[in-house]
Amino acid sequence: MSQTTQRAFVVEHLDPELGPWSALEYGCIARESHDRGARFLLSSVPAELQMPADLAATPGLEVEQRSVEDIFADKKERVCLLDPAAQVELSPEDGDNFDVFLFGGILGDDPPRDRTSELRKKGYVGRRLGPKQMTTDTAVRVTRLVVHEKVPLEQISYVDYPEILINEHERTEMPFRYVKDAAGQPIMPPGMVDLIKKDADKSIDLF
Ligand code: SAM
Repeated sequence: MSQTTQRAFVVEHLDPELGPWSALEYGCIARESHDRGARFLLSSVPAELQMPADLAATPGLEVEQRSVEDIFADKKERVCLLDPAAQVELSPEDGDNFDVFLFGGILGDDPPRDRTSELRKKGYVGRRLGPKQMTTDTAVRVTRLVVHEKVPLEQISYVDYPEILINEHERTEMPFRYVKDAAGQPIMPPGMVDLIKKDADKSIDLF
């Protein structure tokens, strides 16, 4: 990669709205990228979409109405799509093979509905981050560890399907792989556990 080209992490927003879960994930990606001198771009955000105020004010957040296809039309071969269905795992060398790392701005679902296919059909080179579904912020964090800090995928410590204690009677399992922090806990965006608890209480209140 030429030194003048700064590596970009791009999340193509693929949902019609931008809810609190996505806002926490995108804010976390923006702050972590900003703190590490990496560029983060949230693309394909409709002009009429009202960004949550605290997200819009996050340092490191760059919002684009255009799609990734338009923005990087002249360097498509330098764009790597992080794709759960890719046949090749991401490696540290990919930090030199690509300038742009592209992720689907999609909320995870269980079982996955393969919505990343919306980007796959555009013909980008794909790389996988192991066999388990990650949240978007986790996928960006793992990709940055591999291509920026040259940590091989298999040397990163993960927490799979952690349980969140909702209250003394309820717990919920998160169907995702997370990066493990120094205390052995899954790294989640600040505020996410509270949001999960609030959503769970809401759904419990529905019955
Ligand atoms: N249910 C969605 C699907 O099946 O496409 C998964 C969306 S995932 C929450 C958000 C994005 O993170 C994906 O579009 C992909 O870019 C990236 N991602 C998540 N897990 C991944 C994996 N194991 N390998 C490669 N990319 C992954």
